[in-house]
Formats: sequence, structure tokens, C-alpha cells
Amino acid sequence: MKNPIQVTRSSMPMFEEYIEEIRDLWDSHWLTNMGIKHNQLEKQLRDYLMVPNVSLFTNGHLALEIAIEALELTGEVITTPFTFASTTHAIVRKGLTPVFCDINPEDYTIQTESIEELITEKTSAIIPVHVYGNICNVNEIERIAKKHNLKVIYDAAHAFGVTVNGESVANYGDASMFSFHATKVFNTIEGGAIAFKDSDLKDTLNVLKNFGITSQGSIDYVAGNAKMNEFQAAMGLCNLNYVDEEIEKRKKVFKKYIELLGDIKGIKLSEPQDGINSNYAYFPVVFDDYKYNRDVVLEKLSNENIYARKYFYPLTSEFICYQDSFKIQETPIASYIADRVLTLPLFSDLSLEEVERICEIIKK
Ligand SMILES: *Cc1c(COP(=O)(O)O)cnc(C)c1O
Repeated sequence: MKNPIQVTRSSMPMFEEYIEEIRDLWDSHWLTNMGIKHNQLEKQLRDYLMVPNVSLFTNGHLALEIAIEALELTGEVITTPFTFASTTHAIVRKGLTPVFCDINPEDYTIQTESIEELITEKTSAIIPVHVYGNICNVNEIERIAKKHNLKVIYDAAHAFGVTVNGESVANYGDASMFSFHATKVFNTIEGGAIAFKDSDLKDTLNVLKNFGITSQGSIDYVAGNAKMNEFQAAMGLCNLNYVDEEIEKRKKVFKKYIELLGDIKGIKLSEPQDGINSNYAYFPVVFDDYKYNRDVVLEKLSNENIYARKYFYPLTSEFICYQDSFKIQETPIASYIADRVLTLPLFSDLSLEEVERICEIIKK
């Protein structure tokens, strides 16, 4: 049996490079609380993401919860159920009610034509998701938000480094959350960030991730702890040196999949959107009337030690923890896609031979 192929594989720098990066921590003994590495990474990410402000967090989920708090959202939030648990959980854990909007059948992002009919006097915000690194219709979302005076926080966990007609994805909405989890295109082991334009948010975010302690030492908020430590930031500084190279390699894998699986009846691929410089984060395949259904393909692959993922299935609106909690809207397109989608292995050092083998198994 060949070596197992997981759906993803974390990018890591050379061992010696990381050791070199963390060496000065043994001199300073400053391990967390906005240290030198943390501040350096914030600065480098502002440049890389081409955004005026970045605030780092210990993970993406807490970053999203704290962005919701900092922007003082209330009542109902319009979002989609075709996402990772984190998006909906963050809304609910902050005491808000998610209102589920359906998705587009082409790029799986929020269906903007359906947003306005979901707005009520309780709606305070929209939290759309840039699914698989596909970008939401940001201009239309901005128009709707302005018209109805709503805040917008993007779940950009999948969209690190993506640009839209040359503009960084981090510059849309009131804030964007990025995840730097080990499985993402860019990682700090665990980690995350909020990118935002309004510099007034900076102090609030810093206070909310550190127990509500302000710089004067008074406690102004009931807040928890979500700071990024120096070892995480050091990993980020190393990985950031290679992220463009890694994305280039992902692109080759992505193109190979398209070459081998394009034009097959019943197999629907998600090609990069127009005007978007993609990060090739995921390779979702929708099996719709293919000779094998999604679950059969998943099993055929796993019999060969290859692990694809039902991502996203089930919809967050179908989680057991949400039944009976609030009114759940029907989202037929999201249900349809969730029942048929599989994300195939995709990481920078997946070899093109391995991609061929994966596609052979799917087609056989
Ligand atoms: C990974 C992910 C998150 C959560 O990020 P963590 O850094 O793992 O906390 C949120 N939303 C989406 C869509 C994700 O994929």
C-alpha cells in the first residue's frame, strides 16, 4: 500500500530556519503579550495583505468572535450555512441569531439577490464567507449594507492573499477574519487575524483579546484571552517567506486536477473566478449525476489510502446543537451542494503523479 495522502498537509519552514527565528526568545524571555515577533508579523501581514490594520489572535475563531463584539453587533446576522462550524458558532456564542441565506450554485458564496428579503428591523450585520477562497460579490454586499446600515464581517479564513481586480480581499467590509490554522494556505500553527480599515478599532480589538485591560491598566470590558504567542508569530514569519511559492505550487496541482477532471459528465469543478487572483486553497468537486455518487467516490479513495473530505457537510443549519434553538431557513442550493461535494487532496507538495492517481481512481 502506498503512503496515505491526506486532504491537506501543513506547510513548514526548514527546521533550522524556525530555530534561528526563535533563538532570541531565549535571550528576551518574552514569550507572549504582543512581543517583538508578534509585532513584526503584524507589520509584515499589513504589507502582504495590503490593508491598513491587522490584529493577530491565537486562532481565527476567537478573532471572529471578538470582531463581532468590537463591532457591537446585535439581534440577527445574515450568513450562510455552507461553511465551517466556526462561522455560525461565533454568531450564536455571541448571543446573536443567525439568519441563513442560500448560496450561489457556481461559487458557493452568499446569494446576494436573496439577502434583502431576509433583513428585518433586528438585522445588524452580514457575515458572508469567501468559501474555498472564492470571493463573495463584495460590491453588491457593500451596496446592500450601505442601504440598510448594516455592518459586514467577512469570514475570509479561506481567502488569505486573494486579490479582486488587484484589490486585496482584506479591504472589503468593516472587517475580515483570516485563519492561520495548520491546515490553511498560510499557517502560524494555530492563529488568526482581523484585517480592517478603521484604525479606531485597533485599541478595542487589543483590549478585547487581553481580558479587557486597557493601556492605563484599568479593566473596561468583560473579556477573555485570545492573544497570539511569540512561537506562533515566529512560525508565521518563517512561513510568510514561502507563501507565494507555496501558492504557485498549489496552482500547478489545481491546474492538473482541472486538466484531468474537466469535461467529465457529472463532475462539476469550481474554476477560479474572473478578476480573482486565487490562492488555490481547496479543490471542491461536485458529483451531480456522475456514475458514482459522492459517498462512493469518498470510499473508493479511502480504500486506496487517499483521504478526501465532505467539506462542507452537513450544513451548519443542520447541526444537532441548533435544532429547536431558533427558526432555521431553508437553503435548497446549499443542501444540494453539501450532499454532493467532496474536497480532494490539495497541498503544495502533492506531486502531479499523485494527482493522476487520485483522478484515475475517481474515473475508474
Ligand atoms: C478554519 C476556519 C475557521 C476557524 O479558524 P481557526 O483558526 O481554526 O479557529 C473559520 N471559518 C472557516 C470557514 C474556516 O475554514
